[in-house]
Amino acid sequence: MTQLTSEARATLRNAGFTSSQWARLHGYSGATDWRGDVCGCTDDRCIGHHHDATDACGCLPALIEDHRRQQRASAAGREVWAAHVHATETGTEEDRATAGELASSWITEYHPNAISHSLTESPKGITCRNHWNETTWLIFDAERGQVSTEAMS
Ligand SMILES: [Zn+2]
Ligand SMILES: [Zn+2]
Repeated sequence: MTQLTSEARATLRNAGFTSSQWARLHGYSGATDWRGDVCGCTDDRCIGHHHDATDACGCLPALIEDHRRQQRASAAGREVWAAHVHATETGTEEDRATAGELASSWITEYHPNAISHSLTESPKGITCRNHWNETTWLIFDAERGQVSTEAMS
């Protein structure tokens, strides 16, 4: 077990997390099970590799910001998917157009590298493709109501 420094705990507290919540977000059962570094970085060799022991950790604020962005993306994704489900139910052009516009702006914001996206390719959620490979990615998992990075094909 690795005990977080008081500085790391203060940074987390300011962001609204307890050490236990932070640990659970990264798959640990709680604060006493944390296997990241004492500075709060998920990499257990952060100090000495990402920064010196005397310097503040730059990873932790970045990880917190990244987590918040994921949460915003999930919340916005739930709205897009709800609009899509609604459009499927009513079947009107107008509702379809609304869902399409919401999906486009969601993609622009959270997946700017996507070259195409679809609400209908998979019943599991929103999918997209980028120009690096031929993979279709499930980027919003409708069942879990969360963003995802699952390769579909
Ligand atoms: Zn780090
Ligand atoms: Zn660090």
